[in-house]
Amino acid sequence: MCGVVGVLHSYLSNDVLVDAAYDVYRSLLTLQHRGQDAAGIVGYDFTTRKFHSHKDLGLVGQVFNEKVLSKLSGDMAIGHTRYATTGSDSKLDLQPLVTGFPVGLGIAHNGNILNYHEVSRFFSQDRGNQLLTNNDIELFQNFWCQSFSQYKDNFLGALIHGATEIVDKLRGAYALVGMVSDEGLFALRDPNGIRPLVLGQKREGNRLSWMVASETVSMNFLGFEYVRDVLPGELIFIDKKGELFSKILTKGHVAKPCMFEWVYFSGAESSIENQSVYGVRLNLGIGLAKQVKPFIESGEISPDIVCPVPDTSRTSAISLAEELGLPYREGLIKNRYTQRSFILKDQEARERAIELKLSPVVSEIQGKNILLVDDSIVRGSTSIKIIKLLKKYGAKEITLAISCPPLKHACFYGVDFPDPNQLVARNKTNDELAEYIGAKRVIYLTEENLKKGIGLEDVCMGCLDGEYPTPTDGSEEFKRRREEHKKSLALECL
Ligand code: SF4
Repeated sequence: MCGVVGVLHSYLSNDVLVDAAYDVYRSLLTLQHRGQDAAGIVGYDFTTRKFHSHKDLGLVGQVFNEKVLSKLSGDMAIGHTRYATTGSDSKLDLQPLVTGFPVGLGIAHNGNILNYHEVSRFFSQDRGNQLLTNNDIELFQNFWCQSFSQYKDNFLGALIHGATEIVDKLRGAYALVGMVSDEGLFALRDPNGIRPLVLGQKREGNRLSWMVASETVSMNFLGFEYVRDVLPGELIFIDKKGELFSKILTKGHVAKPCMFEWVYFSGAESSIENQSVYGVRLNLGIGLAKQVKPFIESGEISPDIVCPVPDTSRTSAISLAEELGLPYREGLIKNRYTQRSFILKDQEARERAIELKLSPVVSEIQGKNILLVDDSIVRGSTSIKIIKLLKKYGAKEITLAISCPPLKHACFYGVDFPDPNQLVARNKTNDELAEYIGAKRVIYLTEENLKKGIGLEDVCMGCLDGEYPTPTDGSEEFKRRREEHKKSLALECL
């Protein structure tokens, strides 16, 4: 899971040029929660016909400063915040990826290609191409470069042909932004629209600007007006004059956006498929309250307060407390300068992060029965530590309410839990799980209430029910290589 953004400024008459890279930089700051491993920006200057690029490991604020940004001149730019699910930490694998032949092409994507190994063998063995990275973004580059070589005098035809090949041959999730030298900005979303991608526009004097980004939060922050979501299977191209071209490349695919975007990943202030993330999280809390109520009425649990595990679950906890008529209290305060534990690479790093990031508010938890709300249980280690911490500071009894159904299957679309054996809910009943983590009871949101809360019937729930929106052949090789890669990273850390 990553964040992507592309900006193009076009001018209706001569005007003072504004570097798009600065807008992209500010957008990346709003998308930092989508990836914290690395960040990159590539700008393109239509006047000098030059690309300017900078990317490195680290947070957006660490990778870029004023001096670096001043060198990324040009009225078109794309950017990326990285959360690695394929590839390595090598700088070669960072995005955006740029090439100069047969055209100047820069691309960045969010998602994951399930048949990456099969298609990379096709390019390296059958076509004799030298692949330079371990990143699936290079496959997109190869498809388009092949197409631009084949259709030299027909730019748009080549762009469409390359995108059609991609949609036909690559299986998985991708929300991609790109740019072509002398031509303009483009975007492509996979046929099921698994990862989010939105389109926005801004008019200022003689300047018409377009933005394509992972989330609407980037647009709100920069004063862009949300136009619409990029549709599943849609290719969008915006030329340097600001004219937009669109083509739907697929037929018969059902949109299946990732449910976890609303539950956990996306910023609360964003909207996906026109469904406010904050609003959905409130709905999930209401649905969960309806499920918790019978346990309170039967006297099985008697919570004094509702307490969220910060930050994502705060919204659902508020509506759950309101619905049950219970006081909402912040019993745990998050140190905002630590990274999200789920997004960190190995178990040890995650456990260290939990210790560092939550402080108990003793006055609110001492002597209380707590209805603790979290957005998910992945490995269970976070829940164990939090419950231990609350009890250590005087909590009497803890019921854990989860605003998502149990995660039991792998995700092949960009979320890093490919080995199902790591998912604690897979082999445990709710009672066994409660005992394992030290809670009185665990109450999961039902799949029905999840869909109701999101307000869409068709969403990807592959990690809940094992029904994936794409064929999953190649998943075994994908899982095996991913595990090998993680082990190699762990060894490097020793
Ligand atoms: S499998 Fe789960 S996490 Fe992955 S895309 Fe589908 S819903 Fe999202």
